[in-house]
Amino acid sequence: MCLDENTLEIFNNIFILLSIILPLLFIIFLFYDKKRKKKFGYYLLSLIIIILIIYFRGEIMNINICESDKKINNTTTTKAVPAINSDNYVGKTSKGYTIEKKDGVYFIDGYLIVNKSYALSEDFIPENTHLKISDELCISCIDKEAYKKWLIMKNDAAAIGLNIHISSGYRSFGYQKDIYNGYVTKDGKDIADTYSARAGHSEHQSSLAFDLNSIDSSFIATNEGRWVNENAYLYGFIIRYPKGKEKITGYKYEPWHLRYVGLNLAKKLYNDGKWITMEEYFGIDSKYK
Ligand SMILES: [Zn+2]
Repeated sequence: MCLDENTLEIFNNIFILLSIILPLLFIIFLFYDKKRKKKFGYYLLSLIIIILIIYFRGEIMNINICESDKKINNTTTTKAVPAINSDNYVGKTSKGYTIEKKDGVYFIDGYLIVNKSYALSEDFIPENTHLKISDELCISCIDKEAYKKWLIMKNDAAAIGLNIHISSGYRSFGYQKDIYNGYVTKDGKDIADTYSARAGHSEHQSSLAFDLNSIDSSFIATNEGRWVNENAYLYGFIIRYPKGKEKITGYKYEPWHLRYVGLNLAKKLYNDGKWITMEEYFGIDSKYK
């Protein structure tokens, strides 16, 4: 079964309300009805209905968004700009996708893009986040829709005994500048550029990316790492810097870094386990000027 995004949201709100109001009514009636002994059967029936409603709320939450709505869903998530607006038009990629720029953010085919070639402006702060951004660093300041999908993914992992958690979420332009400069001091610019983004070039500033668990290459050797690599696309996430694509992305393999792109694109980039990068898919570079 599938529902469009708005219907799903309405269903969810109704179920939240019912699962709060009905148990309250049940308790109130049970304690204030003087003939409660006679009506015990009705109360029992009500309790069963309440339990069923709470149960089906969980089922509804797992209903997928309809195939026809996925593209719309993806574009809203990635803060798409309207199709071909001449004010935003920048050009075409080598594969013919439209590049647009709006409010200091680049979009390709409606997908927000950040890499070494495409930067976010210094003053760009995402607005549509699960928690409002009020600090330089914030683990739960993730794009609202990405965060919803993350919670489902985390619960599904937990159901089979795997523990995945966000270790690093939103990072501001200023914070990224400080950590990148710290790495340059430690390892030199050339090496730092292989594992840390310069300010404005980090996906963490977009609120659409986050790091999981140990933020270490050993992550892929864990059950959690393997499961994430094989299943993240089912929730709309991609391994943004896959193994063997270092020269294309400009970054070493990062099995812990996930980027939300929505179900449609994630499935294409997963490519039956042979990951394609956003750079290859759209036909763009990732190189500092
Ligand atoms: Zn990361």
